[in-house]
Amino acid sequence: MTADRVSPLPRSVHREAPPAVKAMVRLIRDSWAKAEPHLTEVTLFFYGMLFTLAPATRDFFPINMEVQRNRMVRALVHVVQMVDQPDDLVPFLRQLGRDHRKFGVVPKHYEAIGTALLAAMKRQLGPDWTPQIEQAWAEAFTIIARQMQEAAAADDNPPNWLGKVAEHRRLSWDLAMVRIEPELPIPFRAGQFLSVEVPQRPRLWRYLSPANAPRPDGSLEFHVRAVNGGWVSRAIVSHTQVGDVWRFGPPVGRLTIDRERGRDVLMIAGGTGLAPLQSLLDELGQFGENPKVHLFYGGRTREDLYALDGLRATASANPWLTVRPVVEQDAPAGFEQGTLADVVTRYGAWPKHDVLVSGSPAMIRATVSRMLVAGTALEHIKYDPFTID
Ligand SMILES: Cc1cc2nc3c(=O)[nH]c(=O)nc-3n(C[C@H](O)[C@H](O)[C@H](O)COP(=O)(O)OP(=O)(O)OC[C@H]3O[C@@H](n4cnc5c(N)ncnc54)[C@H](O)[C@@H]3O)c2cc1C
Repeated sequence: MTADRVSPLPRSVHREAPPAVKAMVRLIRDSWAKAEPHLTEVTLFFYGMLFTLAPATRDFFPINMEVQRNRMVRALVHVVQMVDQPDDLVPFLRQLGRDHRKFGVVPKHYEAIGTALLAAMKRQLGPDWTPQIEQAWAEAFTIIARQMQEAAAADDNPPNWLGKVAEHRRLSWDLAMVRIEPELPIPFRAGQFLSVEVPQRPRLWRYLSPANAPRPDGSLEFHVRAVNGGWVSRAIVSHTQVGDVWRFGPPVGRLTIDRERGRDVLMIAGGTGLAPLQSLLDELGQFGENPKVHLFYGGRTREDLYALDGLRATASANPWLTVRPVVEQDAPAGFEQGTLADVVTRYGAWPKHDVLVSGSPAMIRATVSRMLVAGTALEHIKYDPFTID
């Protein structure tokens, strides 16, 4: 499993796990707590073992393994620890299983990953690695691998898609719009995201969200912000050329709007987290009647709100849409000041709205937590919970 980075965010409402599963997770957590301070050693042993058991898996990773660092082991351990939360975990694992078809992962690779993980843990824990702990890790890993493999086997789509860069435009010093024309249409829904590999950074897959609804010509528009020290985002913003070929994994994600539900919609977007929400707005724009949509679009300063003029133009043509810009400092007239979490909760709990939150993991975490405190029901809040840190 090469899910790069997964981080815990507020959980959706889920069933209570049976006591045996809770005990299993306790054993896993306690043993991991002992290994975690030695993550680098665990990781080095893990990769050494994995590449010996299944040499073909080396091709799933970047040439420079430094870039990969400890991500895979952290991601693996994170999902292993979540087997007591199947309502959150299973849909994610199924997406991950489908996504991993892009690498050419086959069942024997899962086996090798499980063996390497357990061997690395055993070596690190020494005498603390008991048969009960081993059994807990093995069972949890088997559950995960089974879910991923079943989903992969049931997927009829191609394992990946290719698309050519048709346009690359700098929107600001650290932000670029890239328009892709895929060879074959990519069957995404508005609000989903895809893993992407660009030729400047082979095998460093990153998630990006199309900012448009599916179009008749199949083209996709991405908005990419270069993050400080970012391997892939900086390469995309600075070095993308028209004609570059990008590779895409299958579309994933659960941000949707149910127009039939009769509930209004609150959208909360931080930075390029706007993209999947713009995609949903683009889709709503195809209908005459829509639920009322209230969009809070936030950044640190006015300059961060790169799409504001376009959004205002959309709102003036579509009375169902209200756009509220939010900045953390020096708010101009007509803007609200504060973090998105501050500003949105000033209006109360939004009990009549379905809420969609999109942005950095920190922003999602802060916003969802504050909304829960303000009284918003968790089942009315949607976000993509497995994301980078
Ligand atoms: C579901 C989802 C959808 C996404 N959609 C988009 C999108 O449409 N447009 C877009 O530009 N990005 C998007 N991202 C973020 C993107 O996938 C990358 O994580 C981001 O571009 C950084 O990758 P990198 O290789 O440049 O940085 P890395 O080399 O992986 O990291 C370099 C440093 O930057 C930090 N970092 C990583 N990501 C961020 C971030 N988002 N904000 C601040 N610091 C960060 C890391 O912690 C690290 O310190 C999305 C992420 C997810 C999970």
